[in-house]
Amino acid sequence: MSAMPSAPTRPARPMWVVSVVDDAEHAVTRDDMAAGIASGSGTYRALCRATVIPPSMTEPPRGRCPYCRAVLRLAATP
Ligand SMILES: [Zn+2]
Repeated sequence: MSAMPSAPTRPARPMWVVSVVDDAEHAVTRDDMAAGIASGSGTYRALCRATVIPPSMTEPPRGRCPYCRAVLRLAATP
């Protein structure tokens, strides 16, 4: 009776976070988000290994990072 089946290789529901570095949304796992919060640096490690520096939350995103999307696509491929 599993409510949420998931493949072990796919990062569990990454969060898309806009970075001021390239104005793209990057995929950040919950673990990396927690690590960023715990470090107090205000930065997060994206799936593509970019360092994400979030802007004001009122800024609209300008497209998702193609590298994070590629990592997620590869992880979803059997
Ligand atoms: Zn990325």
